[in-house]
Amino acid sequence: MIHLLLIVLALAGLIAVLRREAGAPAALGVLTVLGIAGLVLGAPLLGLVLLIAGACVAACGLPLLRRRWLSPRLFAMFKKVAPKVSDTERTALEAGSVGWDGELFSGKPDWQNLMDMNDDGLTDKEQAFLDHQCSVAAGMCNAWDIARERADLPPELWAYLKKEGFFGMIIPEAYGGLGFSAKAQSLVLQKLSVNETLMVTVGVPNSLGPGELLLKYGTDAQKDHYLPRLADGREIPCFGLTGPRAGSDATALPDTGVVCKRVIDGQEVLGLRLNFEKRWITLAPIASVVGLAFRMFDPDHLLGDEENLGITCALIPRDTEGMEIGRRHHPIGSPFMNGPIKGKDVFVPLDTIIGGPEMAGEGWRMLVECLSVGRCITLPSGATGTARYALGWSGGFARIRRQFNLPVAEMEGVQEPLARIASMAYIAQATVRQTANMIDHGQKPAVPSAILKSQLTEFQRSLLGDAMDIHGGRAVTLGPRNYIGIGYAANPVAITVEGANIMTRNLMIFGQGAIRCHPYVLEELAAKDADDIKAFDKAFFSHTGLILGNAARALTLGLGIGRPSVPFDATAAPYAQDVARLSAGFGLAADAAMASLGASLKLREMLSARLGDVLSNLYLTSMVLKGWQEGDKVEGEDELLHYSCRFLLQRAEQAFVELFDNLPNRALARVLKPIVMPLGRRWARPQDTLTRGIAQNVSTDSALRTKLLAYTWDTQEEGQQDNPLARYNALLADQERAEPIYRNLNKAYAKGELPAEALHPEQRIEAGLAAGLLSEDDAQFMREHEAEVLAMLSVDDFAFDAFASAKENVTWHTDTAA
Ligand SMILES: Cc1cc2nc3c(=O)[nH]c(=O)nc-3n(C[C@H](O)[C@H](O)[C@H](O)COP(=O)(O)OP(=O)(O)OC[C@H]3O[C@@H](n4cnc5c(N)ncnc54)[C@H](O)[C@@H]3O)c2cc1C
Repeated sequence: MIHLLLIVLALAGLIAVLRREAGAPAALGVLTVLGIAGLVLGAPLLGLVLLIAGACVAACGLPLLRRRWLSPRLFAMFKKVAPKVSDTERTALEAGSVGWDGELFSGKPDWQNLMDMNDDGLTDKEQAFLDHQCSVAAGMCNAWDIARERADLPPELWAYLKKEGFFGMIIPEAYGGLGFSAKAQSLVLQKLSVNETLMVTVGVPNSLGPGELLLKYGTDAQKDHYLPRLADGREIPCFGLTGPRAGSDATALPDTGVVCKRVIDGQEVLGLRLNFEKRWITLAPIASVVGLAFRMFDPDHLLGDEENLGITCALIPRDTEGMEIGRRHHPIGSPFMNGPIKGKDVFVPLDTIIGGPEMAGEGWRMLVECLSVGRCITLPSGATGTARYALGWSGGFARIRRQFNLPVAEMEGVQEPLARIASMAYIAQATVRQTANMIDHGQKPAVPSAILKSQLTEFQRSLLGDAMDIHGGRAVTLGPRNYIGIGYAANPVAITVEGANIMTRNLMIFGQGAIRCHPYVLEELAAKDADDIKAFDKAFFSHTGLILGNAARALTLGLGIGRPSVPFDATAAPYAQDVARLSAGFGLAADAAMASLGASLKLREMLSARLGDVLSNLYLTSMVLKGWQEGDKVEGEDELLHYSCRFLLQRAEQAFVELFDNLPNRALARVLKPIVMPLGRRWARPQDTLTRGIAQNVSTDSALRTKLLAYTWDTQEEGQQDNPLARYNALLADQERAEPIYRNLNKAYAKGELPAEALHPEQRIEAGLAAGLLSEDDAQFMREHEAEVLAMLSVDDFAFDAFASAKENVTWHTDTAA
């Protein structure tokens, strides 16, 4: 009995010590006390074993002892296996800040750190801009005209965007910009997502590019000259990094800038001779100033000793001699301005370098530092706005489209994609808002920017597919009445730009996070580079404590022991506790993968992607939970919270299972799985009851639908382009009155109480009126309602030769067609 008691006490004591990462002295204390107790209480062998275990802990865990024999050996081994971090990677790793992503990596997230980031909302000026200017701009967009007829935004919209400062949202008021917060920028872009060309056109100058680079690194003279001109649209910027030979691997760019002298107006000027070929550059065809990235060389040592200065960014006016600019590419689905730029022996003075000659060679650092903020906002906001509109249109369509005598929204097959869209919209809104809020609190979330970019644009891809399916032929048929087909076709743009999603998921999220967010790996690598064994010892053994702590936390939390207290209400708390559990498992699995695969983990992209998926899903769940906790809740939102958290946590667990199934070290995988998931999977896909409730809510005039469709253009003013969302909202507002009338009329028809030839709804209304089944007032209401329903269900048709741009090549197959 005493043996069992001592073993249980030893295990419980050690697990408690490990969970708290209390360190070797605490573990030594537990083992020594219980070892002595064993000797005294008649269990000498067990007592001896415990004391020997204590001696091992002391030899390996107490710094004074282990530094004599263990640490030097470990350091030598570490130097052999640690991955080599290239200068490019180091720059990327050092850019941006670590916040909630680091908490998740630690395996013991402190929720209070997240909750302390208050969301102060928008200023009055920002709110007014969203309400007025954004609605005016959205109301000037006719998607068909923009995409097919003009292949551009209309001139009056360009003028309005410039006049109202849309291109200067990130430029401070002191320079004539709007000086908006990240939250406001995000909401503006969400509202403008009603048209993807408009969103991209406004998004790009406010993202990574000349404006942001100048703000952060420009000389005073550059700022004073360019920022006011960028803010009011006198200058239109573009930024050229990509070329035919350098896409995802942007640092492989072969474009050059060689330091040289040239005589201009009788004066010798020190400058750069640029040779470059760029492609896919957004806004290039109309840009007045080109931000250009190139490799800078100084072979004649005109600047100093260094010949190869590295990647450099300069700002070059469009009319610079030798620059070829103005041709267009044709991005799929969307005619936003995009084209190639070439330059042969283009001479520019040195002061065109952003930040001046002293920033020569700093270009890559500048770009990755800026990327962390811009990438959190532009494309994720576009995806979120798209989700809001897709939900509004799909919910509206599904309710007014009747088949089999029922709105298709009542059919479970349609409810499934509707609920999926709603959940993705909910997750995206919370994630982009909370992350923008972090930026407003001064963070530069580097790893989250990769998570948001890839995850939310993948949501966009999925939910646009769902929205297309729900609409059936209504969305397949292109024309002025099709409000979604053009945006659907343009979706690959978001998937590809700012770090193509495959690479971002497989390489960036975990690859960058493993070193950047990990509490100790960066310290260990720095100790290796500095050959500092003391720093290595400290980092390495703290790291060991973390691994053991994560194992203890993952196992006990997985068994339901010692759930952490979390600052959430009863609805959200279980999910937050499970994020903490899976975060411990993630920390452990990440260390296990790094330890077992070493530098080769970089090449094992499928494993890295799954680790990235765990991190991404935990990050998204955390954002949803914070949004829930601090927002005003509406009826039915709890169902959406449950659905969204289950959807995300189920995906996180799926990624764990696939990771364990594919870890090359099978013995390690067999140990890890029962520690991380001792009771198997906890989360299944959301239940059908949730799906039904959510679909019902988002396809009716409900508080939940109103909340999810906030920050959309949902008004219809005189003189504005047609607004299908406003029309659907109006139809849904009438639905409560219309639905019972439809039902009565259809029932009467089925019973033979109405003439057999009353096949159209319009005929049934008249027949019902004649049969006394509805009042004249109801009949008039239904005539108008049904006319509007038919208008919203209608599609376009065109002349036989309308789609052929070379009319002379049209084959007129029949006489009637001719
Ligand atoms: C419409 C449009 C607008 C753009 N605007 C600009 C702009 O304004 N300025 C600018 O400089 N650039 C711009 N780009 C370029 C854009 O950023 C690049 O297209 C993007 O970085 C990807 O490069 P790529 O298309 O050459 O893909 P590639 O590099 O050829 O990659 C092909 C595929 O391989 C994958 N891949 C590559 N490397 C890895 C890896 N290590 N691991 C896993 N997968 C990998 C990629 O994810 C991708 O799926 C634009 C592109 C487009 C299409």
